[in-house]
Amino acid sequence: MQKDTAVFNLIDKELERQRHGIELIASENFTSLQVMQAMGTCPTNKYAEGYPGKRYYGGCEVVDEIEQLAIDRLKQVFNCSWANVQPHSGASANAAVFLAVMKPGEKFLGLDLSMGGHLTHGSPANFSGKTYHALHYGVTKDGIVDYEQLENLARTEKPKMIICGASAYSRDWDYKRIRAVADEIGAVVFADIAHPAGLIAAGLLNDPFDHCHIVSSTTHKTLRGPRGGVIMLRHDFENPWGLKDPKGNLRMMSSLLDLAVFPGSQGGPLEHVIAAKAVAFGEILSPDFKAYGQQVISNAQAMATAFVSRGYNLISNGTDNHLMLIDLRNKNLTGKKAQETLDKAHITLNKNAVPFDDKSPFVTSGIRVGVPAITTRGAKEADMETVVNFIDKVLMNADDEAVIAAVKADVKSFMQQFPLYTELG
Ligand SMILES: *Cc1c(COP(=O)(O)O)cnc(C)c1O
Repeated sequence: MQKDTAVFNLIDKELERQRHGIELIASENFTSLQVMQAMGTCPTNKYAEGYPGKRYYGGCEVVDEIEQLAIDRLKQVFNCSWANVQPHSGASANAAVFLAVMKPGEKFLGLDLSMGGHLTHGSPANFSGKTYHALHYGVTKDGIVDYEQLENLARTEKPKMIICGASAYSRDWDYKRIRAVADEIGAVVFADIAHPAGLIAAGLLNDPFDHCHIVSSTTHKTLRGPRGGVIMLRHDFENPWGLKDPKGNLRMMSSLLDLAVFPGSQGGPLEHVIAAKAVAFGEILSPDFKAYGQQVISNAQAMATAFVSRGYNLISNGTDNHLMLIDLRNKNLTGKKAQETLDKAHITLNKNAVPFDDKSPFVTSGIRVGVPAITTRGAKEADMETVVNFIDKVLMNADDEAVIAAVKADVKSFMQQFPLYTELG
């Protein structure tokens, strides 16, 4: 068959874009070549509805081994006793948790989207907000999770589930405090660690497994794996909430979650992606990964310092993790303008609402900046100063095309010291 040049030329073009640009989208990363290669393989041809050893199709003996290896490695990564590696994405993992725990119309508590939360934590535009009764806590004026508000809402509203986790929050979480109020009202605590999972795996942030009943994550952010999701339990348990399977039987939590992924909300698993997840989990178990996590935090600190010294206003004044949220109002810029202007210089990040934002989600007053991807490329603390210089120059000359073009050229030559996928030519 003739090579489909229309598609493969575009893929090559995307590779060049990734090579030349400075990638600061906090949810992105670069997988190893092995992880990428595993994704483009023959398990994509296989139907394997069910779980290892309990499939609805024949010929699953090899994909059983692949999936079991992914499960075993993930359990080791997070020191947990049960894991499901089938969710196609973080949103699918969360859909399964909701399905296992909640009946339509029941109440749950999550961080407000406009304060750093995620769509699947109860946005009216999302299944979570449409199907269930979403209640939201926010952050204080200082940009820290408003635990008092969370506790008050929990006590007065008695939600069935409390979600902790965020997409744009630069501080660590007090899981213990959330569990304490959940125990008062008998609620399920569900941690969505999609963003900081890699730092948690490296032991560099509080461990949600110590206090949360259920934990979900994406695999493609700080975990540096293929695009996908996972659900985990440190200890399996007989659910104390009387949750039942579709036939009305009480079940162990692991079994309710397995049923909620398949057949509850997904069909056949993506075994080629699960193979790539297994490769990524293997990389996380190597000693190099802890060093990566430490470099991420160190780079984020260096970048935060560089922004603050140039008069940028960081929400909560800094960061504990891999990202920071910057309020651009004192610089007379919107998030939208900043994102679009930086894009022209091949510096990629996203506009983001800041807490108590007065602008629409399409405009916003802020930007979210993350270092996982450039850290994978090999950038160190001193490079953060250079990157912030580029950003500052563009933002302070947002209407000067000549300055932007000059920075774009500087960005391209700067990134040449951090080669990407050299084996691909
Ligand atoms: C990214 C993210 C998700 C969703 O992941 P997708 O793979 O894009 O569906 C869920 N929760 C949080 C907190 C996230 O940041």
